Amino acid sequence: MGGDLLTDLTELGEFGLIARVSRGLARRQVAPAAGAIRTAIGDDAALLAPPPGYEVVATADALVETVHFRRDWSSAADIGWKALAANVSDLGAMGAEPLAALVTVALPPHTELKWLDAFYVGLGECAAAYGCPVVGGDTVRAPFHVALSVTALGTVPEGQAVHRRGARVGDCVCVTGVLGDSGGGLALLEKGVVRRPPGHHRAVLGWHRRPQPPVAAGAALARAGVVTAMMDLSDGLASDVQHLCRESRVGIRVQAERLPISDAARRTAGELGVEPTHWALHGGEDYQMLFTVPAARMSEIPALLGPLGVVATRIGTVTARGIEIADVGGAPRPLHPLGFAHFRENAPGSR
Ligand SMILES: [Mg+2]
Repeated sequence: MGGDLLTDLTELGEFGLIARVSRGLARRQVAPAAGAIRTAIGDDAALLAPPPGYEVVATADALVETVHFRRDWSSAADIGWKALAANVSDLGAMGAEPLAALVTVALPPHTELKWLDAFYVGLGECAAAYGCPVVGGDTVRAPFHVALSVTALGTVPEGQAVHRRGARVGDCVCVTGVLGDSGGGLALLEKGVVRRPPGHHRAVLGWHRRPQPPVAAGAALARAGVVTAMMDLSDGLASDVQHLCRESRVGIRVQAERLPISDAARRTAGELGVEPTHWALHGGEDYQMLFTVPAARMSEIPALLGPLGVVATRIGTVTARGIEIADVGGAPRPLHPLGFAHFRENAPGSR
């Protein structure tokens, strides 16, 4: 019903489409960082010039409709936002600042042109928010579902990138922001969308649909040289922490009561009869930074992140081995990942 069909894109032609997309993006994206982007859309390829003394960080993510998102649960603009946000989150986790992104969209023939336009609106808003202009990509036809591929490039001063491998026994384990909002938002969507959700539902749905990874915080932590290891939280703390421990050859003990959980997530969890720590540990798509800091340097963190409006919470300690969680006064027990993979099985729209 109504709306243009993607078949119209054939009439629009490749050049018409490129012009349309780049016009739409140009309205939203900030001007490229001084001189770093020599040419963007319009040539056969984008030409980038990272500042001297910087290294390039590259990351890619693919998102497939029904596996990673549902078009009836998220607007096209939200999907565009999140596709890029998930990638800049990985840049921040390396301590990098965003430079540019390439975005490829595969669309089934019945997709409305309106959907595509809105997708680029959300994408452009995220590009502007993070200073990560889209400098190229492709739009192609897909048989059944929408599929997206985003590649993001960032820069980090030579030798200052942060890896997952540097955590040392005795380091403090910290996370930025709160955990579990996205898991709460997904749980609400699985229950069925309510037309006028109350404020606390809007809050958790908001983070699920438009996460705002603290990329600048990752870069600031790297620049200050205070973190020994860092990664972003995309699959859920219980799952992600396994990677950090494996790379660093250490263990971690998490104090359950220290997990930062928003009031909105707590209230939502209470209503759904879910333990809120379940979302904080296993919900996934938090897009917060997980990092380790030597105890002696913990006091530097608030002054580094405060000006960026980011709060970090110490949630545990790096140990010699074992990945455990402990309640107040309770004996530690193994922290097994259920992670996003678990959610994926009952994933949005999977049959
Ligand atoms: Mg990551």
